Amino acid sequence: MTARTRARPVSPYDGAAMLAGRAAGSLSRLLRRGAGGTLPGRVALALRPQLIGTLSADRRLVLVSGTNGKSTTTRLLTVALSLVGPVVSNADGANLLSGLAAALMADAGGTGTAVLEVDELVLPAALRTMRPAVVVLLNLSRDQLDRVEEVHSHVGRWARALRESPDVHVVANADDPLVVAAVWEGRRSEVGVTWVAAGAPWRADAVLCPRCGDAWSLQGDAWACADCGLTRPDPSWQLGSGGELIDPTGASRPLGLALPGRASAANAVMAAAAADLLGVPVVEAIRSFSGIRDVDGRYLRVDVDGRDVRLLLAKNPAGWLEVLAQLTSDTGGILLGLNARTADGTDPSWLWDVPFEQLRGRRVAVFGDRSLDMSVRLHYAEVAHDVVPDVGSGLAALAGMPVNVAANYTAFVTARAALRAAAA
Ligand SMILES: [Zn+2]
Repeated sequence: MTARTRARPVSPYDGAAMLAGRAAGSLSRLLRRGAGGTLPGRVALALRPQLIGTLSADRRLVLVSGTNGKSTTTRLLTVALSLVGPVVSNADGANLLSGLAAALMADAGGTGTAVLEVDELVLPAALRTMRPAVVVLLNLSRDQLDRVEEVHSHVGRWARALRESPDVHVVANADDPLVVAAVWEGRRSEVGVTWVAAGAPWRADAVLCPRCGDAWSLQGDAWACADCGLTRPDPSWQLGSGGELIDPTGASRPLGLALPGRASAANAVMAAAAADLLGVPVVEAIRSFSGIRDVDGRYLRVDVDGRDVRLLLAKNPAGWLEVLAQLTSDTGGILLGLNARTADGTDPSWLWDVPFEQLRGRRVAVFGDRSLDMSVRLHYAEVAHDVVPDVGSGLAALAGMPVNVAANYTAFVTARAALRAAAA
């Protein structure tokens, strides 16, 4: 797959829409109203909805979607593909159509590669309008209970969109039954699909077969539905049990990531499979991954008064399960942050699905708008903890030890700013 080299001329209508969008973005920044990142895209798409298709038509386009790991996988893939040519991306994480348009507008007329993370709800619209060469499907699990519908409804939407996009090559997680069901229903064939065994520790959203609704026992790696025949596909790429990458030839390679945790390694294998498809050899891709130390603050590691402090993002039960594995494998204190603002989802009842019992016996403190919700959850999990007003107080409460800070989205943003200031 090679990039086209000549862009079609921008029509006057598209040009005017982009001009208006950029002007709105500049005005927003000037007035310090925020939204400067996505506003150009919002305004331009309001004036010219077909613009997003035009902006992506002359590019080699890769979309990355799923509930968790989109930003990290997008970053890994962007760095790998940058080895063979220019790449644009929505590195700010703005993953609705407005954010995708804004990222492409920043390089309007470019003909290189675009690697864009896409909200899982928006993916069907993005597939239909942007006609990507490759889509990377990481996982599906429940998220933001007030905003996002029942996760099984995504399976049907993804399947319909894949059926209507027969030319896009799919790189998909063979271990996630919901992803497999969507690809199975959307393709009914292995042609144009690269399966990756990237793991799926969170299985509570697949207690019934996502294809037929039959009761099944989802145990082990080789799962199958006796009723409808949905079965785990044979993967060509794998994340090995020791955290290594196993490529389609069976060769095993250490990933050597600076990013910690199983989820990072899984994202790296997904990115390596996509990069290979797009012309970057696996050895070079892995080497490029090793230089990434954080992804817009995810996994940020700072020294605060001689203490090692690391920041982790977890937004939903599946994400927290991965982060808990990281927290329990590390020593030191744990500072948990919880908000329930619009960007987080305003219903934090998912807390009760997360096995915080794993933190028993650890030194824990809690901050955030909804710290008392977290405190009640920890109380019933029998995890002793302090409730603190902010990140600085949390670090003080955990004096004399390294600290992992784990927070959901807006609490993470607050913690990122606090840690960067404290480390400065
Ligand atoms: Zn079934």
